[in-house]
Amino acid sequence: SDSRVIMDESAIRRALTRIAHEMVEKNKGIEDCVLIGIRTRGIYLAKRVADRIMDIEGQPVPVGELDITRYRDDRPDRAKASGVLPDEELKLLVRDKRIILVDDVLYTGRTIRAALDALMDCGRPQSIQLAVLVDRGHRELPIRPDYVGKNVPTSRHEKIDVSLSEIDETDCVTIFHP
Ligand code: 5GP
Ligand code: MG
Repeated sequence: SDSRVIMDESAIRRALTRIAHEMVEKNKGIEDCVLIGIRTRGIYLAKRVADRIMDIEGQPVPVGELDITRYRDDRPDRAKASGVLPDEELKLLVRDKRIILVDDVLYTGRTIRAALDALMDCGRPQSIQLAVLVDRGHRELPIRPDYVGKNVPTSRHEKIDVSLSEIDETDCVTIFHP
């Protein structure tokens, strides 16, 4: 197998800065926007984008987090979504807001579908947008990102590794070929 770095530290930094600008432009400011990071690495990416929006607009953007493991429809161990009470904190954060979901890699779209389920359980958001660092294709659902760090056409056998300095040693995105 071999691997290739497709985003280094500066490429990730520039992509997140661009995405922050795109969010401000698309939403005509950042009023009522809430960033929701998915699981581990989406949360760090959401916090980084929120920091940049603070630099650009001088306004804080709330950041929440979502662990959608229990909502996935293809996991046998999931609890039934309707039986799970969402976080009270998340409920307060989501209602009537412009939600921007943030994740590291978008693939089939099933994680995002599950995230949409979880958010809908929290009440009615004004709208929901999606930001991902890497879109690797192979969607199985009608889901598309509003903000993309990098489009990376992949084969199903390839794997993307996202390292973020908060939890990994470095900032880099690598593609692994089997
Ligand atoms: P999906 O649900 O769209 O099939 O997959 C997206 C979710 O699985 C994301 O939360 C992402 O973290 C993870 N994922 C899917 N494919 C990859 C990949 O190639 N690399 C990494 N790092 N995560 C992936
Ligand atoms: Mg993930």
